[in-house]
Amino acid sequence: MVSPPEFRKIAHEFVDWMADYLEQVEQYPVKSPVTPGAILRQLPEHPPSAGEPMETLFADFQRIIMPGITHWQSPNFFAYFNANSSYPSLLAEMLTATLGTQCMIWETSPAAAELEERVMDWLGQMLGLPAGFVGVIHDTASTATLCALLTAREVATQFAVNREGLTGGEKLRVYCSEETHSSIEKAGKIMGIGKENVVKIATDPSLAMYAARLRAAIAQDGEDGFIPMAVVATLGTTSTTAVDPLPEIADVCGTHKLWLHVDAAHAGTALLLPEFRWMIEGISGVDSFVFNPHKWMFTNFDCTAYFVKNVELLVRTFEILPEYLKTNPLGDVKNYRDWGIPLGRRFRALKLWFVIRSFGVRGLQEKVRSHISWAQALSKEIIAHDAFELMAPAPFNLVCFRYRPAGDENTLDDLNQRLLTNLNKSGKVYLTHTRIRGCYALRMCIGQTSTTPEHVKKAWNFIQATAAEMELTS
Ligand code: PLP
Repeated sequence: MVSPPEFRKIAHEFVDWMADYLEQVEQYPVKSPVTPGAILRQLPEHPPSAGEPMETLFADFQRIIMPGITHWQSPNFFAYFNANSSYPSLLAEMLTATLGTQCMIWETSPAAAELEERVMDWLGQMLGLPAGFVGVIHDTASTATLCALLTAREVATQFAVNREGLTGGEKLRVYCSEETHSSIEKAGKIMGIGKENVVKIATDPSLAMYAARLRAAIAQDGEDGFIPMAVVATLGTTSTTAVDPLPEIADVCGTHKLWLHVDAAHAGTALLLPEFRWMIEGISGVDSFVFNPHKWMFTNFDCTAYFVKNVELLVRTFEILPEYLKTNPLGDVKNYRDWGIPLGRRFRALKLWFVIRSFGVRGLQEKVRSHISWAQALSKEIIAHDAFELMAPAPFNLVCFRYRPAGDENTLDDLNQRLLTNLNKSGKVYLTHTRIRGCYALRMCIGQTSTTPEHVKKAWNFIQATAAEMELTS
């Protein structure tokens, strides 16, 4: 057990460690080099029967856990999409953990409910969403998308599935592009329509959904006895950040009265910049919209912003009121337990409030704009390079490319796989890969809070040098 005076002393030491860690994070290998099982083997099979001193625990944290950590906050982290953090967010998380509130209903922490209402309103304004959109914070985009599709299912069936369950004859269908994130298919499985009824629409050369094919697929399915219920449009696909054409898709949804959900998990952050608002032309035809401040908006994982046009439909889908949750507030309040899946909710609004106030909208815009401009500059260098190839348009901060020296085209996938392995093994950078029209490509996402143009330059030089060295030694 930790006594109050011990807590004060140890917490100060931890804060020093945290500050040192973040200042020195570049010195760690970005991707953890440990082999599978290496951490597990060091952990006793049975829990301790007697309590252990915090010094021992902290020593084990440093000895056992730290080598198995991949350093997401490193400025040389260019993998996946970021999960960037920042000092204001981290400080708020310290307060959140200290309060230990459970924010399921207004009464269990009125400030949490009302702050959430206000910051989501701010966020909607910051992204340029229409005034009628109302927001709620979820843990992840996967959860928010599931909520969107569950609501769409209930709207399509006049809430019959909520009442009676799926009877087997519904033949409901959801549409998205072949580049859509796997969370859409997962939602299809969870919500009971089956992944085969998540229809993947072909994409154009920029890897964005062909709206005409969407229209044709929906019309054909209607004739074949299916019930189209929703379309998911992606603004910034996971593989290459392609942007589906929202106005055309909204038009199709309008014609067929389908729920339109927008997944802008990563690239939604770019809407902070007026010059990217072209992405949400057609937003008036959208029913729900999700983006992740925990990806590229300097807010610790987890924090997903989910917006809906019609809150009543959302709440009707999820509301449930057992006796033990009945409260008698004095006025009109928001009980967010009915706005999503879990009853219990973390106090996530605090970190968002801290981030928005500490950076200011202008501060956020400057950082995001910088990331995009560095990615654009890198794309140009790749295009100009004889032995590298840009593999997809790079509208935001993600650059997809491959090494393509003169020679056997059939070995390019293997060559690039080996290049990625060598880069990541070095510990100096961490990148990930995708396949674009079947070809293996490296993905470099420039969105870490402490990344500078020098980090990007150093990484690009290192990529070129590593590739050249592989040529010499092969
Ligand atoms: N949608 C897109 C476009 C994504 O890129 C991702 C994750 O990278 C997700 C959804 C899932 O996000 P989350 O981990 O918040 O569920």
